[in-house]
Amino acid sequence: MRLVIFGPQGAGKGTQGARLQEKYAVPAIATGDIFRWAIATEGGELGAKVKEYVQAGRLVPNELTIQVVLERICADDCKDGFLLDGFPRNRAQAEALDEFLEERGIPLDAAVVIDVPEDVSLSRILGRRACLRCGRNYSVDSPPSNPWTCDVCGGQVVSRADDLDESAVRQRLELYHQQTKPLTAYYQERGVLRQIDGTGGPDEVFDRIVAAL
Ligand code: AMP
Repeated sequence: MRLVIFGPQGAGKGTQGARLQEKYAVPAIATGDIFRWAIATEGGELGAKVKEYVQAGRLVPNELTIQVVLERICADDCKDGFLLDGFPRNRAQAEALDEFLEERGIPLDAAVVIDVPEDVSLSRILGRRACLRCGRNYSVDSPPSNPWTCDVCGGQVVSRADDLDESAVRQRLELYHQQTKPLTAYYQERGVLRQIDGTGGPDEVFDRIVAAL
C-alpha cells in the first residue's frame, strides 16, 4: 500500500499515520519528524540546512525536501509500500513523487486528505505534544503513561518548538491553504483522492479512513 496523507496542522495526520502504519505494515514517513530529528541531533548537515525554515514555519526548499523523501522511500523497508505524512506539501513535490513512482511502475494507491475546521485545528495544535526522538504524538488529553516520557522509545515528550510560536503556527496554516489544499484537486483528477472528516475522536477518524481505503 502506497499512501500519502495530508490535511491542515492539527488534523490528526501523525496520529492516524501511526495507526495506518500498524494496520497496513508499511512505514509512516513524516518529513516534519525527519527535519525535527535532524535539528535536534546537533552537528548534522541536514539539520543546519533546515533549521531556519522549520522554526519560522516556512517550507523547506523543494529540491532538498524531495531529495530527502525519495532517498527514504528507496530504503528496503519501503519495498512493499509506505505512508507519507507531510509530503507532498505543494504541486511541485506531488509531481516529483508521481514521476518517481511512474518511472518505477508503482502507482500511488490513495491520497487521504483529513479535513477539520480551523478552530479544531488550532486547539489541537496548542494541546499536542510529541516525542523528540521517534515523533510519536501525544496530547494534554492523552499523555504518555509516565509523565512526558515516550511509551514507545523512552524519548522526551515535549511541545514542538514551532507550535509555541503563534505567528509560525498561523504561517503554517496559511501555507497549507495556499499550497497544500489545492492538492485535493490534483489527486481527485488522478482518481486517488479519499476525503475524510477529521472531527471526532481518533478511533472514529481511523474507521472512516479504513472504510475509504
Ligand atoms: P510538520 O510536522 O508536517 O508540521 O512539519 C514541520 C515543518 O517541517 C514545516 O513547518 C516545514 O518547515 C517542514 N516541512 C515538513 N514537511 C515539508 C515538506 N513536504 N516541504 C517543505 N517543508 C516541510
